[in-house]
Amino acid sequence: MDLAYTPAEEAFRREARAWLAANVPAEPLPSLDTPEGFAAHREWERRLYDARLSVVTWPEEYGGRGASLAEWLIFEEEYYLAGAPGRVGQNGIFLLAPSLLEFGTEEQRRRHLPPMASGEEVWAQGWSEPEAGSDLAAVRSRAVRTDGGWLLSGQKTWSSRAAYAHWLFGLFRTDPESARHHGLTYFLVPLDAPGVTVRGIRQLDGEPGFAEVFFDEVFVPDDQVLGGVGEGWRVAMSTTGSERGLTLRSPGRFMAAADRLVSLARRIGDLGEAERLEVARAWMNADAYRLFTFQTLTRVRDGATIGPESSINKVFWSEMDLHLHETALRLLGPRAELTGAAPDAVAGGRWLDGFLFALSGPIYGGTNEIQRNIIAERVLGMPREPRPAKESQ
Ligand SMILES: Cc1cc2nc3c(=O)[nH]c(=O)nc-3n(C[C@H](O)[C@H](O)[C@H](O)COP(=O)(O)OP(=O)(O)OC[C@H]3O[C@@H](n4cnc5c(N)ncnc54)[C@H](O)[C@@H]3O)c2cc1C
Repeated sequence: MDLAYTPAEEAFRREARAWLAANVPAEPLPSLDTPEGFAAHREWERRLYDARLSVVTWPEEYGGRGASLAEWLIFEEEYYLAGAPGRVGQNGIFLLAPSLLEFGTEEQRRRHLPPMASGEEVWAQGWSEPEAGSDLAAVRSRAVRTDGGWLLSGQKTWSSRAAYAHWLFGLFRTDPESARHHGLTYFLVPLDAPGVTVRGIRQLDGEPGFAEVFFDEVFVPDDQVLGGVGEGWRVAMSTTGSERGLTLRSPGRFMAAADRLVSLARRIGDLGEAERLEVARAWMNADAYRLFTFQTLTRVRDGATIGPESSINKVFWSEMDLHLHETALRLLGPRAELTGAAPDAVAGGRWLDGFLFALSGPIYGGTNEIQRNIIAERVLGMPREPRPAKESQ
């Protein structure tokens, strides 16, 4: 492919850069896992939306500007270079939205996409359960048919941002006779519906970054099924393709972090050979990921869909992010352990925060052990992992 940008793409870059320079808050917003930080981040999403920069690739009628994937990559590069706030609506805009665009009815798209893009309605992902994490097909939460809709019961856990979110997209078993990935349905559920109980899970830093969500015969009408009854696994696999493959983690995020690492190394100076090599490796990994993303994007533009190879992507970006932050901590030495509250902390403790979050990369979106199984079985065609007899149906 031609790696040069077109004049229109360059013009878009200038527009995005100028807007971000004028609008990114000078001070970081409070953590989006606190009530005040959640509100501040929603306010920020509203400003992005008003500038038509919240969801650039979406069609205009849903709040986007119909930009190409290349323009999205440009936007992401500028966004992270500008040090703009984290995206509080990311589970909606990057995970659910591609599935809504692919499987949703026109009515569902018009109802859900604009408030998602503006931050008015924030979405949580409700897939994991106490006994169904890596083994997502073991979902037990169920939906029972009732007049005009379904009654949902069961428990979801580790649902990011659900402590504050407005809606949840989740998988429920609609066929009680079914097993594994059969008989599942993908529901869109308002978290203020009667029968829903949300209980925050405090992280090590004390903030409820996650929640458990309990459903006690929660009524959900038929028009809040996404993609058809019994089609949940197919729709969910499209969502995970987005989570692992393209939209959730753009190269701009890692390039900006790699550039900051190089600046840190220069400021510290006088590094040993081993440390210099790790800094170079971190930067080259980020650049390799950027180039690989261009390749994915070219394939998608030419009509390909992202299949199990998205697992390769997920393993790569999560391990790259961890290595990058470990390298930063190594350069900082003992000062790496200072949190943002310490007067002597480097960059407001940002490297430590980034490291702690990077630790979760190999877990969320399906653990890297599971991704390696998928790569072995479905990309390389190696023999399947032995499964208990009851699972072979
Ligand atoms: C930051 C973060 C955000 C998250 N956000 C959400 C969210 O918004 N919504 C949501 O639904 N979930 C979310 N999760 C949950 C996440 O999807 C699960 O933690 C993950 O799928 C693993 O499931 P588990 O925790 O039950 O671990 P388990 O499935 O119990 O796995 C435990 C360990 O065993 C390994 N293992 C399990 N099976 C195999 C196997 N067959 N082969 C090899 N190794 C195996 C795993 O890799 C892991 O190391 C989030 C998790 C994190 C860390």
